[in-house]
Amino acid sequence: MSNASGKVAVVTGGSRGIGAAIAERLAGDGFAVVINYAGSAADAEALAGKIEKAGGQAITAQADVSDPVAVARMFEMADAAFGGVDVLVNNAGIMRLAAIADADDALFDSQIAINLKGTFNTLREAARRLRNGGRIVNLSSSQAGLLSPTYGIYAATKAAVEALTHVMAKELRGRNITVNAVAPGPTATKLFLDGKTEQLIDHLAKLAPLERLGQPTDVAAAVSFLAGPDGGWINGQILRANGGII
Ligand code: NAP
Repeated sequence: MSNASGKVAVVTGGSRGIGAAIAERLAGDGFAVVINYAGSAADAEALAGKIEKAGGQAITAQADVSDPVAVARMFEMADAAFGGVDVLVNNAGIMRLAAIADADDALFDSQIAINLKGTFNTLREAARRLRNGGRIVNLSSSQAGLLSPTYGIYAATKAAVEALTHVMAKELRGRNITVNAVAPGPTATKLFLDGKTEQLIDHLAKLAPLERLGQPTDVAAAVSFLAGPDGGWINGQILRANGGII
C-alpha cells in the first residue's frame, strides 16, 4: 500500500468498465474507495469483495449521478464509512450516437442529464466537502477533440466537462485541491464495444499510432497519477490517454 493510506476516493460509475479499473487501482494505491453505481449492484458488490480480499477497503454506494439528492446521500455514505472524502473521480457516463438530424430529445436529454448534470452534481458536493489537499479527476473523451460525425451531443457534454474542469480548478484556489480531466480514446468497455461490428472495432483500434484499443487499466493508470503524489503539480489540465489518436 502506498502513502495514500487513510485517504478516501469516490469513483462514480465504479461498477464496470473504466470506473471499475480506477476503483481497483486506487484501492491498490492505498485509498479507501467508494464504488458508486446506478443499476449494477452485483458488479459493484463483487468488486468491493475483490478489493477487500486483496487487503483494501471499499464500500458500494447506489446513486444515479443525475439526481442531486442521491449524490448528496452518496457523499454522506462516504463520510459515515470513512470519515470524509479526499478524491472524487467523475467517471459515470453514457454514450448515445446519432447524427444531429436524427437525434431525438431522449438521446440529447439523457446524455446531458448523466454526463453534464451528473458531473455538475458531484462537483458541487465535492467543492463543499472535499478535504484540503484533495484531488478531482473528471472523465472527458478524446471525442471532445476528434469531433467525429454522430458524436456531436456526446462530445458536447464532454467539452462542457472540460470547461467545468478548468473553472473549478480556479475556484478551489487556497485549498490545495487539483482539478483535472482524463480524456480516453477508444477503450475496450461495453460503452465503446456495444453496437459496433468487429470490422469497425478493428478499424477504430488501428487509428491510434499505438494501433490498439485502450484498456481500462491504461486509463486507470493516468487517473492514479493525477490522484497520487506524483500528480500534485498538475492542475486545470486535460490529459488525453488515447495512444496518440489525437
Ligand atoms: P461503461 O463500461 O458503460 O460503464 C459505465 C459506468 O457508469 C457503469 O459503472 C455504470 O453503472 C455507470 N453509470 C452510468 N450511468 C450512471 C448514472 N446515471 N449514475 C451513476 N452511474 C452511472 O463505460 P466506460 O467505457 O467505462 O466509460 C467510463 C467513462 O469514460 C465515461 O464517462 C465515458 O464517457 C468515458 N470514456 C469512455 C471511452 C471508451 O471508449 N470506453 C472513451 C472516452 C471516454 P451501472 O452499470 O450501475 O449503470
